Amino acid sequence: MAITVPSHTEAGSPVGTYRAAVVHSFHEPLTVEQVPRPELTAGQIRVKVQACGLCHTDIHAAHGDWPIKPSPPFIPGHEGVGTVIELGPGVTEVQLGERVAMPWLGYACGTCDYCVSGWETLCLQQENMGYSIDGGFGDEAVAYARYVVRVPEGVHSIDAAPLTCAGVTTYKAVKVAGTRSSDLTVVFGVGGLGHLAIQYAAIAGARVIAVDLIDEKLELARELGAEFTVNASREDPVQAIQKLGGADQAIALAVSPKAFEQAYGSLRRGGKLVFVALPADNEVKLPIFETVLNGITIIGSIVGTRTELREVFELHRAGRTRVIREVRPLEQVNESIADVESGRVAARIVFEL
Ligand SMILES: [Zn+2]
Ligand SMILES: [Zn+2]
Repeated sequence: MAITVPSHTEAGSPVGTYRAAVVHSFHEPLTVEQVPRPELTAGQIRVKVQACGLCHTDIHAAHGDWPIKPSPPFIPGHEGVGTVIELGPGVTEVQLGERVAMPWLGYACGTCDYCVSGWETLCLQQENMGYSIDGGFGDEAVAYARYVVRVPEGVHSIDAAPLTCAGVTTYKAVKVAGTRSSDLTVVFGVGGLGHLAIQYAAIAGARVIAVDLIDEKLELARELGAEFTVNASREDPVQAIQKLGGADQAIALAVSPKAFEQAYGSLRRGGKLVFVALPADNEVKLPIFETVLNGITIIGSIVGTRTELREVFELHRAGRTRVIREVRPLEQVNESIADVESGRVAARIVFEL
């Protein structure tokens, strides 16, 4: 039995619709418009969105850059945070008025080998917010109650939004990298993800190197705990990092295959390279001989689980991470995409709804 609270009826927002940023074509800008409110089905909740971050994945989704494409029209956004305003049939996992985050993993089967072994992020039945199901770029969003994560008191929604993808993704990357105290860890790309990766690697105890092409971003990296920085537009990061002894782990967050190759080259023997960024150009050239002789491990890492997102929120609540973000209205979605693409944004843009 659905428990329904009355829909809000502000001017310009008739009952039965809500405002959202919609992709109608991979070759056209998004349009902010009124879209129909879908009815909730079993297990779903309706969330009044307060904030949603803009991730590079949203841009790739809007442009149809990847082999598996979303089907327009659709609403991007997988860093949506807001309060639950309606419960669909059978929902017992969350309550009305609770504040939740709606991450990339919008739905998984819950019973396959991956789901039951703590690898729900690899579930083949998964649905993704802002990609195969409509996401958080709107005043409201529909999510599956089992796959949202409660946002604890003391974590602002504007901070919770970037933590919901950028945070959990880099937290997981540092985890799979196996970073420990005394390790030298290099983060390639200091953006929405990188600025958090630096902090998680430092929390794990590593000495952190940050690599980017922009001096202001490297300054930010130092503020957030990077001990060394390399501007790859002026200096070869491979040489610079090898001079320090080589990295135990490299985390590739820059959307350029060249950065992946440099990340590989910066490793010491036995090092690990974690692939996280997803450049539109899907090829990277790495040597087999050196990989074998040097005992290099290459790992792909995609987002993180609900448990890991809880841990990310907990670290933030405890004051151990800082989220660098810039708040904008949803109407600026297209300018914001252009700014992220040209690297004009310090870290993360968050739309306030
Ligand atoms: Zn993302
Ligand atoms: Zn599954």
